[in-house]
Amino acid sequence: MQLPVRIELQVEAQTADPGTAGFDDVVRETLTDPRGWQGAGFTFVFRDDAPYRVVLAEGPEVDRLCRPYDVGGRFSCQNGPVVALNADRWRNASPKWTGDLDTYRRMLVNHEVGHLLGQHHPAVQCPRRGQPAPVMAQQSSELNGCLPNPWPLRWELDCAARHEEPLAPGYENHPRSSCGPT
Ligand SMILES: [Zn+2]
Repeated sequence: MQLPVRIELQVEAQTADPGTAGFDDVVRETLTDPRGWQGAGFTFVFRDDAPYRVVLAEGPEVDRLCRPYDVGGRFSCQNGPVVALNADRWRNASPKWTGDLDTYRRMLVNHEVGHLLGQHHPAVQCPRRGQPAPVMAQQSSELNGCLPNPWPLRWELDCAARHEEPLAPGYENHPRSSCGPT
């Protein structure tokens, strides 16, 4: 049994409209939910001068924070110590999303913070059609026949619980997870 790894985060909304109100609360609730990454031995602590940042910003600023990733003013990313979430997606979800907005937001937080924890996209985006998608699948782009899902699947938690991947990776050229359903 490994000791919990402590992840210190600052949460920052660079927006002030009603559509993004409550961002901090959703991030904190999502990351401290028992269904989330804490099930893989991570504990999340929130403080203003923490080394890792979760930022909600408009497209141009997310583009800047994500470089050299090309997120095209639409997508979100994790880039080293920064998780940058696109404010328009936070307000409206993505065109392919079939779940509700609250579920989308929790998926977005767990997906991008999953990258911060060193987790990669799965080799197969939807391993079991009609079942919940892996949280590390690119659900914003396409559900591929899976159900929208904001929480890490059991095998994703088992994978992350090995604590084998370095935290807060920098730019990587589309690596895939070596983990999958068992
Ligand atoms: Zn991703």
